[in-house]
Amino acid sequence: MDTPREKDQVFDDYAAWFKALLPDATGFLCYDRHGRVFWRNGDKAQDFTPDYKSALAGLLSGDSDAELQAVDMDPGGAVLFPLTGSNTESHGVLAVIMSSLPLDPAALRQSLQPAIRTMQRELDLRFRLLENQRRLVVQAAEEKLLHHVESLVHKPQSSEASLRRILELCRKYLAVERAGIVVEGRGIRLLDADGLKGEERDVALKHMMNPDGGDKSMADLVTMPLEGIVTAGGGKLLLQGWSDSQFSRRRARRVARYLASHAVSALERDTDTLTGLPAWSVFEAQLQAACQSDDRADSLLMYLDVDQLHVINQNYGREIGDEVLRAFARILRTWFGTNLVTRISSDSFAALLEDLSPHEARQLGEDTCRRFHELEFFGAGKSFHAGVCVGIAPLTAGEKGASRSLAAAQVACRAAKDRGGNRVEAYEPADQSIMQRLDDIQLVGSVRAAIGEDRLVLLGQPILPLKRGNDLRYFEVLVRMLDEQGRMLPPAEFLSAAERYQLMDELDRRVVRMSLRMLAENGLRRRDSGVRLAINLSGQSLGNEGFLHFVKDEIEAMRVAPELLCFEITETVAVANMQRAQAFMHSLRKMGCRFSLDDFGTGLSSFSYLKLFPIDTLKIDGSFVKDIATNVVSQSVVAALSEVARVMELETVAEYVEKEDSLRLLRDLNVTWGQGYLLGEPVRLEEALVADRPSTCESAVTRKSL
Ligand code: C2E
Ligand code: CA
Ligand code: CA
Repeated sequence: MDTPREKDQVFDDYAAWFKALLPDATGFLCYDRHGRVFWRNGDKAQDFTPDYKSALAGLLSGDSDAELQAVDMDPGGAVLFPLTGSNTESHGVLAVIMSSLPLDPAALRQSLQPAIRTMQRELDLRFRLLENQRRLVVQAAEEKLLHHVESLVHKPQSSEASLRRILELCRKYLAVERAGIVVEGRGIRLLDADGLKGEERDVALKHMMNPDGGDKSMADLVTMPLEGIVTAGGGKLLLQGWSDSQFSRRRARRVARYLASHAVSALERDTDTLTGLPAWSVFEAQLQAACQSDDRADSLLMYLDVDQLHVINQNYGREIGDEVLRAFARILRTWFGTNLVTRISSDSFAALLEDLSPHEARQLGEDTCRRFHELEFFGAGKSFHAGVCVGIAPLTAGEKGASRSLAAAQVACRAAKDRGGNRVEAYEPADQSIMQRLDDIQLVGSVRAAIGEDRLVLLGQPILPLKRGNDLRYFEVLVRMLDEQGRMLPPAEFLSAAERYQLMDELDRRVVRMSLRMLAENGLRRRDSGVRLAINLSGQSLGNEGFLHFVKDEIEAMRVAPELLCFEITETVAVANMQRAQAFMHSLRKMGCRFSLDDFGTGLSSFSYLKLFPIDTLKIDGSFVKDIATNVVSQSVVAALSEVARVMELETVAEYVEKEDSLRLLRDLNVTWGQGYLLGEPVRLEEALVADRPSTCESAVTRKSL
């Protein structure tokens, strides 16, 4: 509180009055209620004795009702009178210093009373005036502060710049020594204070955040929580050092609450409104800074991609999709501590992990996958679970570091998706599949070009009857790609890339069209042409509704009998696309096409599946055939499959027939057809179609050995 000045004409008039009444008085002092001298007259203050100080403290504390206290000071003494306001509040103490202590202080009081009473009235008036003045000053300061802060909200600047400005304004108008803002999960730690350098500032802020109880300097700390979705990880406005401030504690808290709400609004501007996470721009700036920092090696970037959000949106509606994203963001906020997290696009998120080891980061990623997968969502009358894939990459230095690190984390995330989803992969340049991904990106361009530029070649491999009396010419169509140098690449080298980049549908269409054209061009259109082509189909084609129409249209356009075509679908693909596969098969089978279940025995291999699909042929996987002569397990698997097929009236094809003793065994086990290098390697399909076909396996084997 502002007190009257030490030199004061009006008070000096009192001194003259007191002196007239007390000739022994040599000096006068007035203390305010805090014990600060606000007026002095006469003698310079001498060294006050402990007795004097304790008498003064006693009167100021209001504990004693004494009308005065006399203190012997040798030489002389002092008499202290409490000064009381009209509402009996304390205005302080008047001390009269005397050359000798009077014998009867009470008589002294008596003689001084009128003068003291007048002085008290004077003080009363002055303090009331001052109080009003103070109120006006505070009110004006508050108004100015709030006005400035309000206009900040509309200013186009980063939220951090706005927060800095709020702190400056606090210092200026509230007159506090230190003003700070901390927002956990955003990495925001700001302190406005005089005379503190970098590290001291951090220490001071930490101290303000966790003051220890006994610390007197923190007794006047005002802490106001920042409340909102942006600061769900925790946030505080901290104001400390109020001794110069005119704001009462209550008023200060009210203003602080208001400032806190404005700080939250400032933060909201840089925030993803759906999830409450910091906007990408905020994240990007910090990522860039981290990539350029010397401590780069201690940080990792995590990329998180929620599985199949578009499917969730489609099946359950956008609102449920949003709920899934919000739930995921809550997990990130709860478990990622002070590490910065953001939402990059609709379903992808990123986290900047500081000071986590690769092992800890992976653990955190795995825990996140698990926690998210455990959540149960409800939509369209059903409950469902969602998944997420996580990729982790180190930070790359340099100007393009941020985008390079992000690309690496994305690649790792794709690898996690390829390996089944709901898992974590770290970017390691030595990782085969990750390298494959990078290769794929280049390869896929050439696959696309090969499809576009007719650089696909079809081979045909004969499938021969194991028993006499069947002269059907049956071939499996196998695709090859010619690379830019004209080399023939086997499917193993390009199918995985084509699959990952959703090119299989296009590739299968091309193979179907080329096969039909080859039949048509070689005069093999009719049902009785004695030819059958087995064409492999992928899951992507089966999953695509347009594919069925394409096949039907092509068959009709080329006028090829559907009976000449047999489509091979692997057991795994058929089961994964159960309904589509069934519809596809039924529809084409009605036209006369046939179906084989390929690679049977390696997938789920449940015989019950056989009943679900309208198939004609079971293709026993080559791995059982290859070693059938030496492996009793393989032998019993083939025996069982052959028996089931017989009961269900299905034909069987054994692939990978490489040895003569295998051939004999297969025949004994009543397998219908054989295919393999022993019986005929794949050759160009048009050659296969026109060439003489060996009528039996024996002639194929003999011809080969010639
Ligand atoms: P698949 O359908 O199981 O085809 C049989 C594969 O086994 C062929 O490899 C064939 O060359 C090979 N093979 C034939 N006889 C033997 C043998 O005696 N021993 C051994 N070890 N292998 C033998 P290819 O041509 O490299 O094809 C590999 C896979 O690529 C095929 O497996 C099929 O899944 C896929 N594929 C090939 N052509 C097409 C196509 O036109 N469309 C689609 N969607 N997939 C195709
Ligand atoms: Ca096949
Ligand atoms: Ca096969």
